[in-house]
Amino acid sequence: MKAKNLVKVKYTNGIPICPFCKVPTKRGGSQGGSSTAMYFPPQYDEEGNNINPDRNIITTNWQCLKCTKYYVVSGNQTDGYQYKI
Ligand SMILES: [Zn+2]
Repeated sequence: MKAKNLVKVKYTNGIPICPFCKVPTKRGGSQGGSSTAMYFPPQYDEEGNNINPDRNIITTNWQCLKCTKYYVVSGNQTDGYQYKI
């Protein structure tokens, strides 16, 4: 289940690129971060691949120190992260 118009977030050393000025955000806003925290029990197919990966949505608020705008990154390791501006 992939969202349409998914914009993959680019990371530099674990820091997302600001969607406004396209430079790495220097500071992450820790307040307001959240996770859906659901439990995804592993399910394996006949070749041993996990077909039920962790799809918890992790949401993190960021503020770019260059343009001072706030933005939100949400997603997970399985489906990728996208901006929610
Ligand atoms: Zn910026």
